[in-house]
Amino acid sequence: MNATKTSRGRRTERADCVIAGGGLVGATLAIALAEAGLAVTVVDRADPKTLTAPPYDGRTSAIAYGSQRLLDTLGIWPGMAEAAEPIHDIRVSDGGSPLFLHFSFGELGERYAGAPFGWIVENRATRLALYERVQGMESLTIRWRRSVADWSAEGAMARVDLDDGTVLETPLLIAADGSDSALRRRARIAATEWTYPQAAIVCVAAHEAPHRGIAHERFLPAGPFALLPMTDDPQAGHRSSIVWTERPARVPGLMALDDDAFSEELQHRFGDWYGEMRVVGPRWTYPLRLLHAETYIRPRFALIGDAAHTIHPIAGQGLNLGLRDVAALAEVVVDAHRLGLDLGATHLLKRYERWRRFDNLALMAATDGLNRLFSNDIPPVRWARDIGIAAVNRMPGMKRFFMQHAMGTVGVLPKLIRGEKL
Ligand SMILES: Cc1cc2nc3c(=O)[nH]c(=O)nc-3n(C[C@H](O)[C@H](O)[C@H](O)COP(=O)(O)OP(=O)(O)OC[C@H]3O[C@@H](n4cnc5c(N)ncnc54)[C@H](O)[C@@H]3O)c2cc1C
Repeated sequence: MNATKTSRGRRTERADCVIAGGGLVGATLAIALAEAGLAVTVVDRADPKTLTAPPYDGRTSAIAYGSQRLLDTLGIWPGMAEAAEPIHDIRVSDGGSPLFLHFSFGELGERYAGAPFGWIVENRATRLALYERVQGMESLTIRWRRSVADWSAEGAMARVDLDDGTVLETPLLIAADGSDSALRRRARIAATEWTYPQAAIVCVAAHEAPHRGIAHERFLPAGPFALLPMTDDPQAGHRSSIVWTERPARVPGLMALDDDAFSEELQHRFGDWYGEMRVVGPRWTYPLRLLHAETYIRPRFALIGDAAHTIHPIAGQGLNLGLRDVAALAEVVVDAHRLGLDLGATHLLKRYERWRRFDNLALMAATDGLNRLFSNDIPPVRWARDIGIAAVNRMPGMKRFFMQHAMGTVGVLPKLIRGEKL
């Protein structure tokens, strides 16, 4: 990174890429680019101590098989592996119906040689691993507690004005600033978006029996109720992460319950599969929305992660899509850098957009459709979907198709998702 003074005395710095947002997606992209030798500046408005403090984010994420290969190739995975619990089985059921769909890693065949579908990791552990990994990366600068106040694309450079008066010049500005992306709005990129009549309650439950690596997804009339296997804890013992979708009007009442009453509600929804179940630690709520940007690119500008697409967490795929964006954009940009090409050239950015748009749209449509199909208690719809569940459960080919999608190993895979270095 070069620093100079402008005529008005403002500090101007140059970087090969500037990334606005150093969250899970932005920080991973920064590592991928810096690892390949690019000078990268990340700008995040938050304090890293806040981002990694336990109250900031109570979520766990299902890290798909393909995403794990990317994190491992970039040297991030070793910092989070201890906190990762493998998912060996997925059981999907429709409310109290005895029919369920069972995906077992044993059905995947030799190609995956016993690999799990993915891993459940606390977002906090992933953030800690990312921020540990960036230490000592000389071509990577992170400007914490700073926002992008304004930006514009002028000729061969984008000019990025920070709120402390610093000016960054770069051939490519990447917005990884989340679903409410201010940079997307500043770029006047419209989006298809709506808020679901649902919110997610997130917490951790301790239970008597071990989970044996099973992820449960139970479709209840208000929305999906997921129990995701976590690593055992010395104090709490066997644990699962809960993502409980509810009608927003019911959420304040549930959040106000004391731990005993809340645990009873949990047990009522999940039953006695794991013996006695008890909530441990705080609870969080998240509004749920769908958003898809009409384009991911403008001259010298690209959207990535939740800033480009935000989906329902029903299938635990939002972050995985963001990591596949990382893999595709990093490959396009690093290839261009090696050839000495303009990193913000529109034809390069179009390649990234073409690569990612279909996968993002397909998963968005699938998760939205599943949520609509299952989040109701209309008898004919319930019967039809139960027949569907039972039928798919007997179709190994169809099940393999769904499993490979959940693992993120379908389509033209970028190198990092294949586990190859850039
Ligand atoms: C309940 C729930 C459960 C989920 N479970 C899963 C799951 O199991 N698996 C999965 O794959 N996905 C899951 N997701 C989705 C996943 O959490 C998101 O897709 C992911 O966090 C998006 O990461 P991101 O880095 O794009 O955005 P964010 O995490 O929103 O990060 C944005 C970053 O940008 C910074 N920022 C914002 N504005 C500015 C600005 N103006 N200037 C500078 N910095 C800025 C913020 O401080 C933040 O660090 C779930 C989502 C929910 C709601």
